[in-house]
Amino acid sequence: MYQTTYHRASSVDEAASLFAKGTEAKYLAGGHTLLPVMKQRLASPSDVIDLAKIKELIGIEVSADAVTIKAATTHYDVANSADVKKAIPALADLASLIGDPAVRHRGTIGGSLANNDPAADYPAAVLALGATIKTNKRSIAADNYFKGLFSTALEDGEIITAVSFPIPVKAGYAKFPHPASRFALTGVFVAKTKSGDIRAAATGASENGVMRVGAIEAALKANWAASALDSVSIPATGLISDIHGAADYRAHLIKVMAQRAVAAAG
Ligand SMILES: Cc1cc2nc3c(=O)[nH]c(=O)nc-3n(C[C@H](O)[C@H](O)[C@H](O)COP(=O)(O)OP(=O)(O)OC[C@H]3O[C@@H](n4cnc5c(N)ncnc54)[C@H](O)[C@@H]3O)c2cc1C
Repeated sequence: MYQTTYHRASSVDEAASLFAKGTEAKYLAGGHTLLPVMKQRLASPSDVIDLAKIKELIGIEVSADAVTIKAATTHYDVANSADVKKAIPALADLASLIGDPAVRHRGTIGGSLANNDPAADYPAAVLALGATIKTNKRSIAADNYFKGLFSTALEDGEIITAVSFPIPVKAGYAKFPHPASRFALTGVFVAKTKSGDIRAAATGASENGVMRVGAIEAALKANWAASALDSVSIPATGLISDIHGAADYRAHLIKVMAQRAVAAAG
């Protein structure tokens, strides 16, 4: 056994101040990653600071140009938001595919992005839509946020407060889920932005975590159609090979998931 002090913060400022006082503090949101890690003794924080009940971290706002999801909003709430379904249906669809009902009711977008699991779903949407991660200190563009496996631009103690997704002209997401966890063996999010840019991001595939896929983007820029990807070949270099799938299998999945995502986007 080791001792941990649990704190329920009531504001972002209070959470940040509690973090600064702890010797080895950790924020807690849905707990779907942090608690298993603690149970396995891979983390033994001195202080656990619960963000889940902070009102300013919960909710979804939609304007003409963006969907802003506050950090402690659950996957269930995103999946079932009529506003998200209308503005970016692919994002609601992605949230509905995360894990199982228990995971979706507790897991949060902020926890998912702070953790940056290489097979998590949200990073693909954040990168493909060119979202902005807002923290208690600054705003971070998606292109500068993901730094590798379980690694992000967040500084020690920095709190994600919200994620702002520009509303695209079209977007779609498709994943080949691991049959047990539902994490992405490979998932691809494609988007056509209002400025005419085409962005595609793959999760679950690369040894460096979520990545943009230039070959998919170039082909879709020439012709936004699933068939435009027929002749695209994705190199297996740098892709994950593990007991669930070899690198060349994941390379093939990137192309197939991208085609399904384009078909879903319409
Ligand atoms: C069985 C199972 C299946 C799953 N399947 C999927 C899946 O298919 N797809 C998928 O994408 N995910 C999946 N997940 C992960 C899940 O979706 C959660 O999103 C993820 O575990 C982290 O979110 P959380 O809110 O639970 O964070 P927590 O576990 O509470 O925290 C995770 C990390 O983020 C930090 N943190 C939390 N909130 C913030 C914040 N606002 N600012 C800064 N740091 C913060 C914590 O300190 C901790 O280090 C699965 C999880 C389980 C247990």
